[in-house]
Amino acid sequence: MKYSEEIKKFLSRHHYDKVVPRAALIDMDGTLYDSMVNHTAAWHKMMLELGVKCNRDEFYLYEGMTGAATINLLFRRTFGHEVSPEECARLYKRKTKLFAEMPPVEPMQGAREVMDKIMALGLKRVLVTGSGQSSLINRLPADYPGLFEDGMAVTSHSVKNGKPHPEPYLTALRLAGVAPNEAFVIENAPLGVKSGDSAGVFTIGVTTGPIPSKELTRAGAAVVFSSMEELAANFDALMDSLLNTYGSSDV
Ligand code: MG
Repeated sequence: MKYSEEIKKFLSRHHYDKVVPRAALIDMDGTLYDSMVNHTAAWHKMMLELGVKCNRDEFYLYEGMTGAATINLLFRRTFGHEVSPEECARLYKRKTKLFAEMPPVEPMQGAREVMDKIMALGLKRVLVTGSGQSSLINRLPADYPGLFEDGMAVTSHSVKNGKPHPEPYLTALRLAGVAPNEAFVIENAPLGVKSGDSAGVFTIGVTTGPIPSKELTRAGAAVVFSSMEELAANFDALMDSLLNTYGSSDV
């Protein structure tokens, strides 16, 4: 059976007998939207304005962290101190403005097909994003009709600790009313994958940016696909294997 080795490894690592998916916990940037090129460009531009030495690709590694965490990471590194909450809010607003000036963001290729399959199975759906930017969150109902019911969202405003802390995905499990082994996560970023796996959830990694697949595996992804299209093409087989793969009874 396809993926059964990967599934068995996950079951044994988390001491589960089985994963029975009842809910899908879904990241937004780089997963539902092809937005990371704009996010990394906006971060890079703002930090250069402030005299912070950085390279654009490093922002792919910070994806999933709250804006405040990213700002403070770079300020600590460059100036040896963090910024006040007021300054942080001002800087994040500036980053949001630069993001809004970038070319329009499109839904990720293949993501609709994956979401259609999830909805057809009748699984609960929860959005789990490190973002607090309303520009994309507000577009979800138009781009993905019916995907998220009201209140089924965890954003940077809902949690104290952002990814890679497990809190965002633990909060999502509570919203869905399911146990960790009754869900799966779809994530594109190492910190997001770490958050999902630390919450004990079967985490599907998708490499939609420059970060190599082995980084997602290292962060705890149970399986990794090279695109949302590849995930769509293999989704039925993966769900079938999840339902039919059991952990060894001697754990
Ligand atoms: Mg993401």
